[in-house]
Amino acid sequence: MNNKTLAIIKPDAVRDNYIGEIITLITKAGFKVKAMKMMQLTTDVAKAFYAVHKERPFYNDLVEYMTSGPCVPIALEKENAVEDYRKLIGATDPAEAAEGTVRKLYAKSKAFNAVHGSDSDANAEIEISFFFSKEELINNYPA
Ligand code: GDP
Ligand code: MG
Repeated sequence: MNNKTLAIIKPDAVRDNYIGEIITLITKAGFKVKAMKMMQLTTDVAKAFYAVHKERPFYNDLVEYMTSGPCVPIALEKENAVEDYRKLIGATDPAEAAEGTVRKLYAKSKAFNAVHGSDSDANAEIEISFFFSKEELINNYPA
């Protein structure tokens, strides 16, 4: 399985009204939206989602950021999804992100960086299941 990834349009980008522009970049890059929702993360949900970072000094700030307003998790499908999507969004720090990438265009800083992307196929699977039920992921492109 290397055709799925989880994107999140983070609260700063939602607040700045970039949902449409970011989804346009994603779909123009060839990704299909498999499932999508807008939601307010609770502290417990944000902590659980970012549990891998719990020992990092920025963990509490990250949880506070991700609960600061609604976000938009999106399950995406494309061949080579994880790698291609991370290329599309650019480096974690927008100062280091390539021209034309989502983070170069819409992120404010390394902390407030507009979007999330899964970092491996295994994590993509875990992260997609974190936000979407089987029913929500049912084939939505019937022939
Ligand atoms: P990503 O995979 O490119 O999103 O980056 P990481 O997995 O390393 O970090 C997860 C998220 O934590 C990033 O997207 C940022 O929102 C946040 N983050 C990363 N580094 C820092 C930092 O030094 N300070 C703060 N406040 N947040 C950070
Ligand atoms: Mg990461």
